[in-house]
This record gives sequence, structure tokens and C-alpha cells, in this order.
Amino acid sequence: LGELELIEYIRSLASRERPTWLEVGIGDDAAVIRLPGGDRVVVTTDMLIEGTHFERGTAPEAVGYKAVARALSDLAAMASSPLCTVAAVSFGASHSPDWARRLSKALLESAEKLGAPLVGGDTSSGTAVLSLTLTALGLPGPKGVVRRAGARPGDAVCVTGRLGGSLMGRHLTFKPRTQEALELAGRFDVHAMIDISDGLSTDALHIAQESGVGLTLRAEAIPISEDACVMAGRRGPEDSPIRHALNDGEDYELLFCLSQADAVAAAQSGLAGAPVSIIGIVTAEKQSFILCPDGSREPLRGGGWEHLKR
Ligand SMILES: [Mg+2]
Repeated sequence: LGELELIEYIRSLASRERPTWLEVGIGDDAAVIRLPGGDRVVVTTDMLIEGTHFERGTAPEAVGYKAVARALSDLAAMASSPLCTVAAVSFGASHSPDWARRLSKALLESAEKLGAPLVGGDTSSGTAVLSLTLTALGLPGPKGVVRRAGARPGDAVCVTGRLGGSLMGRHLTFKPRTQEALELAGRFDVHAMIDISDGLSTDALHIAQESGVGLTLRAEAIPISEDACVMAGRRGPEDSPIRHALNDGEDYELLFCLSQADAVAAAQSGLAGAPVSIIGIVTAEKQSFILCPDGSREPLRGGGWEHLKR
């Protein structure tokens, strides 16, 4: 059972009685709820597990920061601004009271610093390893939310920043692309957007599936981070920088689709906080591909994290 299949199953159970106040439900980066007064709230929740999302021995300050930043990255993917957060922590057997205090302080300070003050939560213990769940609430940007669905044939596919190799350290220190997402949605008509948490290949397929289109990515156009180059080759000669950029995940960059004219303008000017690269095109044909430097075309396969597939 893959993560996608499980989400599909949960969605099939939930879709039968969809309330009218639910504007975006299961299957996007966050849900969008319309309140009785007409305002909208964006909500997402995210789990961090010791051994999966960070190594045992990671400083509690880094763990707390990452938990908040990941949740806010999901709000950014919806072109939404952060409002507040709540956290639930279960401490593992090995965590001292001092460690617990440092994590709590880090959660509060990180949430404050990233613009989403912590307003509540719950603590427990008894699990073998630390588990930390962060829920973030946000408000749609001035032009409303941007969903995964909405990419149109002929659109350009774009990405912020540089991809791959986040395990070298960036996965603990990245800044969620909140401002960049709001700037993008303010300046351009962004048709679809996601944050790259599972890996470019997997997250591109999420946009394709939700939009009912195909994406063709140009390998040569994908911006590769220096970390990806450092990590490449460690697992043999097949282990290339582009593979890391495609599949590593935890980049927390924005992947988005918009008209060619808007994409060219965005790529030329960049955003205040990040460069923008045009890496592909949206097609009516529903299959997704990667164009290799030698001109050949391969089906795009999700090579990123699928947490349930081992
Ligand atoms: Mg996401």
C-alpha cells in the first residue's frame, strides 16, 4: 500500500458527505474551510518522527524548528499566510526533562519567528521514539488559495530555488517559502502549486493527477543544488546529481504551473527571496515524462518518499 493509494482510499470514504463549508478537502497541501461569516481558514497537519524525519541525537532546537517550518511550507503551497500553530508531542523513553524543555522552547520561538505563534497543544510520553505533530492554521492570500488542481495544458512548470541533497543539512534549516508564495500569487495568475516535500518527481505527479494533465520535465532545466552534487556518486556510478534533484525530497521549494508569459516574467525577475526556473510544460496527454539530455523521453516515475512503501 503506497501513501497515494491510502490517501485515495481515505478520500473515497470521506467524499460521500462533503459539507458545503468545505472548499478544499482531503488530497491537497491543506484544507480550506469557509466560516459562517464567509472568511476562510486554511488548515494543515504534519507529523515528525524520530528516525524518519530526523536522526536520534539531533538538537531539540532543530527538531522544533523543522516541525513548524514543514507545516508552514504546506500553507505556502496554498499561497496562504500563517496565522497560528498547535503542537502535540509524545516524548520517547530517552528524552530528559531538559531535552523536553528545550524542544518546547524551540517550538514556541520558531513558531513566533515564522509568524505563526503557538497557541496550544498536548504532551504525552511512552512511545519508543519522539513523535511530534504540528497543526498550522492560515489565511488565504489576497487572491485566494492556489491548489494542486488547476494546471492547464500549455502551462509552464516552474520551481523555486535548487533541488536535491537536503539531507546534507538543509532539511533542518530551510525557510518555508511563505513570502515567495504570496509574491508569486500576487504578481501572477498561478494555476497550480505544491511544495516539494516528497521529491520533485513524486510531487510533480501529484499536480498532474489532481489537475488531470501530464507534466513533461526537461532534465537539463532542473536546478541542482550543490548538496546534490556532493551526495551524488556515494551509491555507485548510477547515483547522479539529477537523480538527487528529482527524488531526494525535503527541498520545501515551490513547484507551480502558470502561463508561459507569466513563467518567463517570473524566471527573468525571480522572486525577492528565490530564483525561479522553468523546468517543463503541462500537456493534455495524461502521462508524465522526463526529457533526457540525449533527447530521449522516459516516463516520470515517483522516486521520492512514499512513506508506506518499504
Ligand atoms: Mg505539501
